[in-house]
Amino acid sequence: MVNRDDYEEIAARLDRYAAVPEDVLAEVVTRDGLCFWAFDRSEMPELSGEDTPDRELAARMCAGCPVQNECLELELRTAGENTVGVWGALADTDRREVHRAWRTRRHNPEGGDGP
Ligand code: SF4
Repeated sequence: MVNRDDYEEIAARLDRYAAVPEDVLAEVVTRDGLCFWAFDRSEMPELSGEDTPDRELAARMCAGCPVQNECLELELRTAGENTVGVWGALADTDRREVHRAWRTRRHNPEGGDGP
C-alpha cells in the first residue's frame, strides 16, 4: 500500500538527481534499464499505458532494475503529470502523486514542505 508519506519519501530520494542533466539520465536509463535490454517493452501494451498498469506489475517488472531512481526522475521531468504506463517501478497513478511532491520540492529545495 502506497500512502502520502511514501510519495514524499520517494520524491525526497530523487533530490540528489536534481542537477543531473536530462540527456545523462536518458543515457543511463536506456543503457542500464532492465526493460531496455532484458525484454521488449513494445510487446507489453500495459507498459505503455494502453492498458491500466497496476502496482503489482510495476513492482514485478522493475524488480532488480539498477536505475529505478534515474528512470523515475527522467519520467517526472519529461512527462510530468501526464505520465502513463510503468516507469521507475511505479504505476502511473502513484507516479502522478509522486510528481506533486517532487514538483513542490524542486520549487522549494530548502525544505520541501513550503507553501
Ligand atoms: S525502472 Fe522499470 S521502467 Fe525504468 S528502466 Fe528500469 S525496468 Fe524500465
